[in-house]
Amino acid sequence: MTKSDYANVQKIICYLRRSRQDIERERRTGEDTLSTQKKIMTKVLDDISIPYDMAEEIGSGDKIETRPVFQEVLKWLREGRYNAIAVKEIARLGRGSYSDMGEIFDLIKEKRIYIITPYKLYDIENPSDARQIRFELFFAREEFEMIRERMLSSKLNLAHEGRWVVGATPYGYSLNSKTTRLEIVEEEANIVRMIFDLYVYGMEQADGNVKDVAFRAIAGYLNRLGIPSPRNGKGGWSYLTVQRVIENVAYIGTVKYRTRKRIGNKYYPRPEEDWIVVENAHEPIITREVWNLAQNKLNSRRLPHTKLDFSPCELAGLVICTKCGRRMIRQYSTQHYRKKDGSVSVYKKEFLWCNTDGCTFVKYRDVERDILLALAHLGTLDNGELKAIYEKEYQQTTRKAENPLDVATMVEKKRKDLQRRLDFIFDKYEAGIYSDEDFLRRKKEIEQELASLDKIIPLEKNQESQEVERAIIAFKSDVKSALEVYRKATDKTEKNKILSSIIDRVELTKTGKGRYDLRVVPRFSSLILP
Ligand SMILES: [Zn+2]
Repeated sequence: MTKSDYANVQKIICYLRRSRQDIERERRTGEDTLSTQKKIMTKVLDDISIPYDMAEEIGSGDKIETRPVFQEVLKWLREGRYNAIAVKEIARLGRGSYSDMGEIFDLIKEKRIYIITPYKLYDIENPSDARQIRFELFFAREEFEMIRERMLSSKLNLAHEGRWVVGATPYGYSLNSKTTRLEIVEEEANIVRMIFDLYVYGMEQADGNVKDVAFRAIAGYLNRLGIPSPRNGKGGWSYLTVQRVIENVAYIGTVKYRTRKRIGNKYYPRPEEDWIVVENAHEPIITREVWNLAQNKLNSRRLPHTKLDFSPCELAGLVICTKCGRRMIRQYSTQHYRKKDGSVSVYKKEFLWCNTDGCTFVKYRDVERDILLALAHLGTLDNGELKAIYEKEYQQTTRKAENPLDVATMVEKKRKDLQRRLDFIFDKYEAGIYSDEDFLRRKKEIEQELASLDKIIPLEKNQESQEVERAIIAFKSDVKSALEVYRKATDKTEKNKILSSIIDRVELTKTGKGRYDLRVVPRFSSLILP
């Protein structure tokens, strides 16, 4: 409250009165509630610095006839000695019979009596203040709640009839307060149609071609044309104001209520059965056809990786961005360009990109082509070169992952075990526990086992190198047939399987605009360990 709010207040009468609760409280605690009230009001009024008098009620009850001081106060107000009344709450004026409260309300209205409370200055000329005064005077708390409830349910009834009862009037419409229905504002409606048109069919460029545009471009265009944005042009058009137009179902004549629930400051979606959806509630601005096209475009924007087909594409799961280590995914969109002659050409945009913001994206089909070239090259390498690749990739990974079931480890463990047993029987023999024969027999058994262990190692190593040899030969023939089958295959998921069978991974490093290095790591399939 600023001082200027009180500009019209000349003299104030402060009316002090015990409420019913005050009387109960005094009975319980012996506190003088009237003097507490006086202290509060004195502070409030001293702060305002407008002349005032105070009047303490001596009577009790809600009716005017039982409150002699209040009768005097009303007389003074009527005579114009005061043009404002100060009370702790509006309810202190009384909450009683309708005729009593009607008398007070009429007086306040007729004489434009300001009401001053510690929290607020009420001016009856202000509609929301007037409403508040009316509620406070005429209705007790429970009644107030009941009224609110009733208002809400009547709002819902109106909503069911397709009336516009909640929320701001959408741009392009005005609200007819008598019918509570939306009516078209032709000038704005034309802008709405233009926005939908630009979004659905694209925007003509300087070179005459029509290009697909996003919300931001449309907003910029409208601002350049100097078209005032919704809400009296404040702040101009933004991508959000454009997006809200595209999303607003009111433009096809539909009203939708109770789709969200407010809890605290946040909105949560309500289940669909709670929604109130009424079609043909008012005259549409946009045709269903254009609306559907716009919503399809919105949805495809929200689901960038194709709408219905979730089966893996050719390079799914194969390519890794070396910058951030993430697997790269395909992003696909189509763009429609409308030419001057009205014909529309469709452009497909297909990228391979990693999910890290601003990291790497490259043209999908370029990568596919280069991987096939790299595979063809791998197929021409001699065995020695492939073995070098194998050793670099495969042996590195086994060294990293220490497999407890790996044969060499097991042999080593067994050898230590046998060695311990050997030590053990030597100890027992020296301590005289074993006879000579026992000792020799046990010693021989252990030594035989140890000898057999020695045979395992060279065999394993030998087996491994034979295995590698076989895998390399297999890989070379696999690559050849895979490339052939790949070229004939039409199904992208089938193609993905083919590539996955011979490629372990592809490391992609972007080196410049449209340029990158690829490292295709072959999969030596017969070497996959359990
Ligand atoms: Zn990345």
